[in-house]
Amino acid sequence: MEPEDSRLTGQVGGYVIEGAAAQQHTEQRAEIATRSTGDEAPATHAEARLLTQVERMLAEEPTWKDRVRTIEIHLSESPCPSCAGLLLLLRSKFPSSTVRLALLQWGQRHQGKYPTDPSDIPRLKGSYRVIGP
Ligand SMILES: [Zn+2]
Repeated sequence: MEPEDSRLTGQVGGYVIEGAAAQQHTEQRAEIATRSTGDEAPATHAEARLLTQVERMLAEEPTWKDRVRTIEIHLSESPCPSCAGLLLLLRSKFPSSTVRLALLQWGQRHQGKYPTDPSDIPRLKGSYRVIGP
């Protein structure tokens, strides 16, 4: 169990799928799937887990960030205020000169205890192509 996995619900926060080593120099897709564990604290939200995983991958291979061309983040719901800040931090870890597309998409507006702050959406639009209600 990773430190950020939930002790309360017992749920695991995420995993990484990486493609097999290429024979030739081609673009590879790294998929990172994270999910909230059902705890309320923003630190357990899927976005926080994604940032933790990306930071782990960057620590293992610092030059990886220069090879990333596309960032696609798909959320079931729009980010809470804490996660909006984390998504901006995540985007800042990759150089704008090499990233062709940074896409942030969600299915519905997050309500709940920490609803999405409408003022965060223009901030996110400054760093991502945002698609969502
Ligand atoms: Zn959140």
